[in-house]
Amino acid sequence: MIKARGIARDGQRPLALFGLSGENVTRLMAGEPISVNLADIGLPDIQIVIVGGRTEQALAEQLGRHWNIPRPPGGQDRPLPPPPTPGVPCAYGCGTSTGWRWYRRVGWQRICAAKAPAGAVARGEFVPDEAHVDRQDGSR
Ligand SMILES: [Zn+2]
Repeated sequence: MIKARGIARDGQRPLALFGLSGENVTRLMAGEPISVNLADIGLPDIQIVIVGGRTEQALAEQLGRHWNIPRPPGGQDRPLPPPPTPGVPCAYGCGTSTGWRWYRRVGWQRICAAKAPAGAVARGEFVPDEAHVDRQDGSR
């Protein structure tokens, strides 16, 4: 791992640079976090932890296991969405579904994008069929 400090492109803010080798990435993906302190490169005494994982769920589990950091809301009990099943009717009865919507009580349901609440995609609560995300069957 390479650590360096510099100045950001705005010419003002301090910049911390971390370069990861292939070996570093291999260890990260194997669940070994990398921990560095900004004081090592002459910046304020702030501990930085970098974790790696194939899914955000895997990352959240590592953070919870090693540092007792709460998992993001919904991340704990929300499994990966199933693969797309185009042609299945929308659960609201308004036509063909275009993605999977997460409901805390009943799990993933087929709905159309028009029934997804604002911000649902960003929160991972509506996964359009065309989205390239990890799916239950291992596809993306
Ligand atoms: Zn609908």
